[in-house]
Formats: sequence, C-alpha cells, structure tokens
Amino acid sequence: MLSIIHRHVIVPLRDFIYPPVCFTCKTLLSEDVTRVCARCWNSFTRIDSRHPTWNEIQQKFETERIVEGILSSFLFEKDGKLQEVIHHLKYSGMKSLGVRLGEELGKRIVLDERFADADFLVPVPLHKLKQRERGYNQSEYICRGISHVSGIAIADSFVIRAKYTQSQTQLNVSERRENVGEAFRVLPAAVPRIGGKTFILVDDVVTTGSTIDACAREFLASGARRVLAASVALAQ
Ligand SMILES: [Zn+2]
Repeated sequence: MLSIIHRHVIVPLRDFIYPPVCFTCKTLLSEDVTRVCARCWNSFTRIDSRHPTWNEIQQKFETERIVEGILSSFLFEKDGKLQEVIHHLKYSGMKSLGVRLGEELGKRIVLDERFADADFLVPVPLHKLKQRERGYNQSEYICRGISHVSGIAIADSFVIRAKYTQSQTQLNVSERRENVGEAFRVLPAAVPRIGGKTFILVDDVVTTGSTIDACAREFLASGARRVLAASVALAQ
C-alpha cells in the first residue's frame, strides 16, 4: 500500500515540484534512476592498463607484492564530472550512483580471469564514526553493483577500520602510508572464512594505493590466498 502511494502520488508530486535533472549538466531527465544523463556517463574518461596512471599503480603493487592487481573504470580528473558524481555518492546519499558505477566495474571484472574467480568483494571499511556521520559506506553500494554483474558475494563484516585516519588529500606518499598503517583489523570471527580465499578490495577512488595496501596486508596475514583491488577511478 505504502509503495503504491509512493509510486503514484509522492514521486509524481516530487517530480512536478523538483523536475528530475542531471546532477552535472542540469539537462531534464525523462526517467529518474540515477540522476546522471547518458551523455554525462559517456563523458567520463575511461582508462585501461596501458594508461600511465594505471601502469604506475600496477607496478607499485607488483613491487610490494601485497595486492596482486588492480582494475578500474575511469580516470579521476580534478573538477571533472566524475568527481561531482562521486561527491554526490559520498555526501548526498545518492547510493544508486554507487550501484551504477559498480555495474560498470563489474563488466570489467567478469572479463578478467584474475578477478572473475574471486571468492569475495570487500568494501574498504570506513571508521565507525565516519560511517555514522555519513550514514553509509559508499563502497558497499559499488560492491552491490559489481555483485549484480559478476555474482561474486559481498563480505562486509570481515574487516573494520580501527583507526580514525585523517584525510589523505594533503599528504604525500610516505605520509599516507604512515597514516593508514595498521588502520584495519580483521575480525577474529571472520578468520576461518578467509583462509585460502581470494578477495577483491573495493574503493571509490584509488590514488597512491596505500589504503588498499594496508587493508590487503590484514587479509594476507589472516591466510587469504590472493588479494586484488578494484576502484571506480584512479587518480593521478
Ligand atoms: Zn548530464
């Protein structure tokens, strides 16, 4: 009953007062699914493993031998439309954007044999205070989208972020590593389910890879067979 009222009364009324427009270009949308128009979705810069930014992070992971490989969909460009979309995902409660971005990423995951046979998707956790403040972890919604496409299960209760880390944006590479060092903790109850399994750690934007690396170390220390990384975007 409530859903009928929602669909036939509340949604049309809301759309009449606030017509659905694209978040980034303000074009009027015919359907209100993710609030980003097809033209804006298609304008994001797609990248592959030949891109220098991807290459740099892949080589860094190969040198450190913790995270085995990374997959991403887009290049994160400062002041670009994708930055705006990710901002809405993280701070305006637009969780459906995360699912949509995850579905894009999922299409790459199923085509890459290193990733396609993974056992679990793990959203990189937020500290509980940050999650309480935001109300949700955006990476969980990205995982849902990946899972829709790939069928890989989501493990969102294996690891916590035990340390409240300061924002990484003003820090250099070694400061970032220091900042996230020992920030993650695998929960004892999860250890028996981690042994011998392959994990894909999922984040919205990867910059130096220090956060993913710190989280991956905890999974390997708990007996994981392999740890991979996937992100919506890579930043330079
Ligand atoms: Zn648009």
